[in-house]
Amino acid sequence: MTPKKTVPAKKTTTMAAKKKSDSPKQSAAKPSPKAAKKSVSAPLVSENELLMQSLRGMRDILPDEQPYWERVRRSLSSAAQEYGFQRIDIPTVEYLHLFVRSIKQGTDIIDKEIYEFQTRGGDRVALRPEFTAGMGRAYIQHGMSVLPKPIRLFSMGPVFRYDRPQEGRYRELWQGDFEVFGEADPILDAQVMQVAYRVVHELGLRDIEFQVNSIGTPESRKRYEKALVRFLESQKHKLCQVCRDRLSTNPMRVLDCKEDKCVQLTAQAPQALDFLDDESRAHFKSLLEYLDELELPYSINPRLVRGLDYYTRTVFEIWSSDREGKKYALGGGGRYDLLIQELGGEPTPAIGFGLGLDRIVLEMKRTQVRPHEFAKPRVFLAQLGDLAKKKSLRLFADLEKHGILAAESFGRGSLKAQMRVASRLGVEVTVILGQKEALDGTAIVKDMVSGTQETVTQEKLTDAVKKVLKSNVALAHPSHTGVAHSEK
Ligand code: AMP
Repeated sequence: MTPKKTVPAKKTTTMAAKKKSDSPKQSAAKPSPKAAKKSVSAPLVSENELLMQSLRGMRDILPDEQPYWERVRRSLSSAAQEYGFQRIDIPTVEYLHLFVRSIKQGTDIIDKEIYEFQTRGGDRVALRPEFTAGMGRAYIQHGMSVLPKPIRLFSMGPVFRYDRPQEGRYRELWQGDFEVFGEADPILDAQVMQVAYRVVHELGLRDIEFQVNSIGTPESRKRYEKALVRFLESQKHKLCQVCRDRLSTNPMRVLDCKEDKCVQLTAQAPQALDFLDDESRAHFKSLLEYLDELELPYSINPRLVRGLDYYTRTVFEIWSSDREGKKYALGGGGRYDLLIQELGGEPTPAIGFGLGLDRIVLEMKRTQVRPHEFAKPRVFLAQLGDLAKKKSLRLFADLEKHGILAAESFGRGSLKAQMRVASRLGVEVTVILGQKEALDGTAIVKDMVSGTQETVTQEKLTDAVKKVLKSNVALAHPSHTGVAHSEK
């Protein structure tokens, strides 16, 4: 096959927010004088330089870490199933316009963090910075409005934000996402919060608390924003520079600022709850009653507005805290009753939330939660000589077909070295296939617990292995006679 000629990367593929190099080298203490001379916008890594490093803020999740991730993935999937959420997978890349229309300019996500580029065909596209917009698009595109409501969808995957990387903040992060379309009743708000709680609680995370607020309808929000701006304008000199700029672009974001002086000032600012219309107030009141009924731990947080523009009424986050009282946001969401219509669909109230899986894994490690335990092989397949190696490939497949988890070392290695691997793995049975056995059509089954061994024909191998495994289980648990736990 002739390999296709590779096309060099076009210059048109630019990252919108690219001000500094993405090179991990940038974090090195001393930039080289050569690099220092370059302009700020010039990448520090030339296109020809091949760095064996992932991009800044993006990382490999190595096999060692996977047991934590596996536990999270399983917990998400089982919660989704139990609460009737159907899995959907949506593309990682969408038209840029979808995100701009949903999240809106003036938000950090759109103004600073979106990874956008132009395709070779000239389309302006973006890596998804969150799930909701894409889920809404899929809901409309596939005519889901005709399905019995509410429609519950669940997804999981990476999202991308060009944020300043640090511990717990990445440019490629993973989220589990739950969305409910077609129901405005606050009982659904309470139920999605229950799902979020179910996931983190089942993972063994404690010290969890929801932060809830209601930002009302666009009208009540406008009234609130006006009052907030009036208040903040009068005290503008007490705000940080970023918040002064936010006053004209997205004043509600000032409430999110972590700068001490802004926190102090906004503590006295007007609160969204005081500006709610009657219906939103009743909606919020009912939600709180449901939360009480479910005994979910929550605090009303008047500063919580969330950074996205599409929210109406309920907004919430799920926080974990450490002994020193430091808070970690594990996820957040809210109601977006107008978004589907704004995107061109039928009026469809909706609510959803995203859980940050990287942060959840960090919390699991911090609080020493047990990761998932993958089943361990109970059998090792050792072989010696070319013919034996060839035969053991089929024997391995036979064992696997019968649900017996086996390990092997098909690479070169003496029998002694292979037996060492077997005992390091702690297997209960080693199957040995030497040159003689390969020619005879037999195999040696060695019980690693009792040390006894027998020669059996290769046809009878799986039965013989099963027998030993079963007798080991019976020895360890005299009342058990069933199939061993690591057998599929
Ligand atoms: P958001 O919708 O921005 O509140 O994000 C939902 C959740 O995703 C947050 O509560 C975090 O747990 C997680 N998250 C957000 N941004 C990042 C990031 N840059 N790196 C890692 N996790 C993040």
